[in-house]
Amino acid sequence: MVPLIEEVLPKIYRIEVPLPESPLRSVNSYVLKGKERNIIIDTGMNKKECRDVMDAALKVLKVDLNKTDIFITHFHSDHLGLAYYLASENSKIYLNESDALALYGRAGLWEQAAGFVSKNGFPEYELEKALKQHPRRSFDLDKAKIFTILREGDSLQVGNYHLECLETPGHSYGCMCLYEPHKRILFSGDHILGDITPNISLLTEPESNPQGNPLGVYLESLDKISALDIELVLPGHRSIFQNCRERICELKYHHRQREKEVRTILNEGPCSAYSLAANMTWDMGSSWDESPPMQKWFAIAEVLAHLAYMKEKGLVSCSKEGEKYLYFLR
Ligand SMILES: [Zn+2]
Repeated sequence: MVPLIEEVLPKIYRIEVPLPESPLRSVNSYVLKGKERNIIIDTGMNKKECRDVMDAALKVLKVDLNKTDIFITHFHSDHLGLAYYLASENSKIYLNESDALALYGRAGLWEQAAGFVSKNGFPEYELEKALKQHPRRSFDLDKAKIFTILREGDSLQVGNYHLECLETPGHSYGCMCLYEPHKRILFSGDHILGDITPNISLLTEPESNPQGNPLGVYLESLDKISALDIELVLPGHRSIFQNCRERICELKYHHRQREKEVRTILNEGPCSAYSLAANMTWDMGSSWDESPPMQKWFAIAEVLAHLAYMKEKGLVSCSKEGEKYLYFLR
């Protein structure tokens, strides 16, 4: 096993951790080596393929896990999954407060999410398949209580790197980036990606969701990062990149185009979020009908985030037809 390791800056290494069966292909884990302690930023899924690569890479880099802490940008399983496995008795696992709270209260979340997409037109037989597929069982809730919470304004020092914690909610409830103001680098997690667009999802009823308008919150978090002086972005997936501000403009443009698409379809008349999603253009590698149910779930959740955003701007309304939701232009 020869892991893919790249030294992106002195003492900062990027490990490419494969994500089997995921269109994301891989996740980036970063290792920062310090004199006294090291930090690992994000870890990969709790799967053998990821474990093998991380074990091999940490061996090559001679990382002593007894002197290493783990920082998780957000609670999704491709970033958090191996944290418990890698953590030694002396390791802290850092996570933001909102994601930690969501993890503690996770029981029942997928049932709520399933109920919500079902009301939005997701067919029952596809829902059953998707629930079987989702890796939600790989979380160990008891271990989730061992997090050390970081908040906006906190910082971590590793070797010569001074990392400031920035809350950038949107992709998850509390997504956290690390910013090194002197070296002008940003560990962006999945908040800003270079080659792909971060998924912004509304998973449960907006009224009972800690983040009822995730897209609105996300766009604000983009503006927050846009104001910073950044030379190099080290993202959670795919290649590192420069031109952070330009990329932010592209991401905002993407969401404006999405909104236009939603509006064009709703112009034809009221419809469910599911049929909206089925009629939009996606880069899923196959047609809508042939796409795996879980991909369709991500797609409808993204459409629901757009609808919540447009609802808040007064552009869209929602009506209940029996148990089902229909959306129309105002
Ligand atoms: Zn991710």
